[in-house]
Amino acid sequence: MTDFICHRCGRCCGFVPFTAKEYRAIKREAKELHISFVKATLNDQLVFYPKSLLRKMESINPQMPDDKLKATVESLVCPFLERNAVGICSCKIYDKRPEVCRLFGQSDHPYLTCPYTKAKK
Ligand code: SF4
Ligand code: SF4
Repeated sequence: MTDFICHRCGRCCGFVPFTAKEYRAIKREAKELHISFVKATLNDQLVFYPKSLLRKMESINPQMPDDKLKATVESLVCPFLERNAVGICSCKIYDKRPEVCRLFGQSDHPYLTCPYTKAKK
């Protein structure tokens, strides 16, 4: 665990994997908040993303060149991300956010290291 300060830029809130158990809680919360989202499976992992990006997701395929795939995935924005007028981001389902969101920036795992803020050791 590291002492980490998040600047709430929202760049990590894109392509979010979650578990089936988390999905049930998130689905209930999203319904209460009137937020629509789509659940899908990508690389054997459950993920969610906004309905408006469905076509973009459908365009992803394993034959896609790496740079195009990376750009497409990076352009996905989590349906629960909220950005205020000055660009500070927050999570609409903060209390129900998936474990991966809780760990991001808090772990030394290479997939969970924030690329925008250096963690203080
Ligand atoms: S964890 Fe990093 S990428 Fe995510 S909002 Fe915070 S500073 Fe931005
Ligand atoms: S669920 Fe919340 S914390 Fe997780 S990616 Fe979406 S907006 Fe970010």
